[in-house]
Amino acid sequence: MKTNIYTRLLPLLIVLTIIVSIIYPYKYVQGKEEDCTKKKVYLTFDDGPIPIITDKILDTLKEQNVKATFFVVGKEIPEREELLKRMHNDGHTIGLHTYSHKFKKIYRSEDALVNEMLQTQKKIKETINISPTSVRFPGGSSHHLTRSLLDKLHSYNLKVYDWNVDLYDGSRPDATVSQIIKNGENIKPQYSRIIILAHCNSNNMNTVKALPEIIKFYKDSGFEFCAITDDTDEYYYRLKQSFNDFSESIKLFR
Ligand SMILES: [Zn+2]
Repeated sequence: MKTNIYTRLLPLLIVLTIIVSIIYPYKYVQGKEEDCTKKKVYLTFDDGPIPIITDKILDTLKEQNVKATFFVVGKEIPEREELLKRMHNDGHTIGLHTYSHKFKKIYRSEDALVNEMLQTQKKIKETINISPTSVRFPGGSSHHLTRSLLDKLHSYNLKVYDWNVDLYDGSRPDATVSQIIKNGENIKPQYSRIIILAHCNSNNMNTVKALPEIIKFYKDSGFEFCAITDDTDEYYYRLKQSFNDFSESIKLFR
């Protein structure tokens, strides 16, 4: 009799499980990306934490209910620990953008670059007790990323993220708000996912002003904002034959 009841209940349980999984889909697990069913856009900010500008960006992201990724510079963290904590506590993800951001120093050798990333990872671990694994090369990976460097980064569980939309607010922070918006909306149909490069330096006030309009554009275009997490697929330009190889300036995407 007991077996009979269970046998009868089994199909009902299966149906209930299916209904529940449809109503409550897999949402979020720490370190895992949200199960985005829409087109994805990753908003990334380099060079922080910088007071005022980073705070204003965080305010806007909160208002817009958007999660982003901050590729931070290790040397900027001392005395700005609260800002780093706020990034983390607001639900954004943190990545590594070297310790010194000095091109001559970081691109001296492959080991120098890896060590700068690890130094920043250590500083973040000491401050907010997480060990970010995503890295962003200052200026992008295009002239520097070789197979051996990628293998070295992977041996430390580090993953590389370049971009395919650039606000050009790093090279031209004085660009007008409307120009920055235009740059931010310059998407190509072949991109299956968008990674936007933005900056949060002290001279990036126009980025702050352009941000709401850029976010609106992507929301209106059916994109979902996602933060880069440990399980986000890497995104880097074509590997070079040798480190610091500037022979080819055209950026090619995987
Ligand atoms: Zn930078």
